[in-house]
Amino acid sequence: MPRRLGQHFLIRDSILERLALAACGGHTPRVIEIGPGRGALTRHLLPRTDELHALELDAAFVSYLQDKFAAEPKLRVHAADVLATDLTQWGPAVLAGNLPYYITSPIIERFLALDRRFPAAVFLMQWEVAQRILAEPGSRDYGYLTVAARLVCDIELVCKVPPEAFRPPPKVDSAALRFVRRQEIPSGLPELMRFVSRCFAHKRKTLRNNLRPYYGARADRLQEGRLRAEQLSIPEFIRLHAQLDSAEGKL
Ligand code: SAM
Repeated sequence: MPRRLGQHFLIRDSILERLALAACGGHTPRVIEIGPGRGALTRHLLPRTDELHALELDAAFVSYLQDKFAAEPKLRVHAADVLATDLTQWGPAVLAGNLPYYITSPIIERFLALDRRFPAAVFLMQWEVAQRILAEPGSRDYGYLTVAARLVCDIELVCKVPPEAFRPPPKVDSAALRFVRRQEIPSGLPELMRFVSRCFAHKRKTLRNNLRPYYGARADRLQEGRLRAEQLSIPEFIRLHAQLDSAEGKL
């Protein structure tokens, strides 16, 4: 069984159904599925949508899906690398996928960078990555991905999934998360995200030391300068960024 390309196939129908319901609710006009594999999740998504774009990198699965769903007019299978594909061509749409775990974070970051035409996503990922996304300030797991995701989305745990629900079983537990894009997203989001990544550049360093290369003496004068990024709440990141980026704050 090939494990390259993160190929672990979900075999438990009850979980597939929960993922499809979390992604589409009763019905949603269009879905983009990432990594359909042999179409396990695809089969559960199709009854809940009018149009499903499935992006698969493995050419063998692309042909398999084209044969298997030949009579299904709602499904378009694309031979594509999700990280090299412009997803905006299919908006508005919701995203869904049992993700290839070797690229979980970049896929989530791509979803975050989309706009409100992509209001929600349901992704199955490693339990450890889900823990990072759901972490609270002060905990070991709290980091750039936590803050980036929660600046943009409200996030809920759909379910925890044990290795036995897959063939072949992965070495780790998994979790499905539902991301719902917030109505109010802070202005200047790309700059704010860049600021957050600078704050977390070296997790054990203080904010002052991480930010000095970019803000010079201003970083030394920060009241919070002796803290580490993991100690800041999301509103504190927004406030600190606004403070440092104000016109007089620039070097
Ligand atoms: N959805 C199927 C299931 O649940 O049984 C398969 C999920 S499997 C964890 C991940 C799938 O993503 C595989 O089919 C793999 O070939 C595909 N994949 C891996 N890298 C990809 C990429 N960069 N772009 C699109 N699909 C990719």
